[in-house]
Amino acid sequence: MTARPHILVVEDEEPLGLLLRYNLESEGYKVDIAMRGDDAELMLREQVPDLVLLDWMLPGLSGIELCRRIRQRPETQSLPIILLTARGEESERVRGLATGADDYIVKPFSVPELLARVRALLRRASPNRVATSLEAGELMLDRVSHRVKRGSRDLHLGPTEFRLLEFLMERPGRVFTRGQLLDHVWGMDSDIDERTVDVHVGRLRKALNKPRERDPVRTVRGAGYSFDENFGRKA
Ligand code: CA
Repeated sequence: MTARPHILVVEDEEPLGLLLRYNLESEGYKVDIAMRGDDAELMLREQVPDLVLLDWMLPGLSGIELCRRIRQRPETQSLPIILLTARGEESERVRGLATGADDYIVKPFSVPELLARVRALLRRASPNRVATSLEAGELMLDRVSHRVKRGSRDLHLGPTEFRLLEFLMERPGRVFTRGQLLDHVWGMDSDIDERTVDVHVGRLRKALNKPRERDPVRTVRGAGYSFDENFGRKA
């Protein structure tokens, strides 16, 4: 089910970008290159890759600002990022990690080391993140086509219900408060009443469940909601 991991390289030095592309493609990754920070931001709005290699100094938008914006969007909040810094910018590295990069590597670097870091970070990121579809019992959510099926039935979810289900299915069994769901699914600076979450959970359930069908979304009293990790398993 898993597609080739997709890596976005954001690097304004063309020879280095090409070197990275060549080596990453040889490892079986799908690679896109952006040479400007603002171009990379647009590309990330079109499609979320599995990992970003992000240069620190970039025209258009700095690596650090791009990193900050990536972390602000719910769609890319947990996107793995490796920051590429030049020697002498090392004191800045702390700032980079504080802004939300997962790892950094100092230029000039050895290609095998970079590839090892990429592999390690992709492994560390939840395997659900890399999967193109999420499944639980008869429920299947396809991230590529944005379709959800229960058995052979196509379910019709609004965009918010889709993101909500995707978020919960990625983390089965974990309970999230309404505030956390607002942060992750609606976005950090959303100024929405927490009851909105209940409204959308209600809509999601209506779309998911026919009468007498088991509900995969659990309400945890006094806490919030979770995706039932036992859904689809025999009791
Ligand atoms: Ca640069």
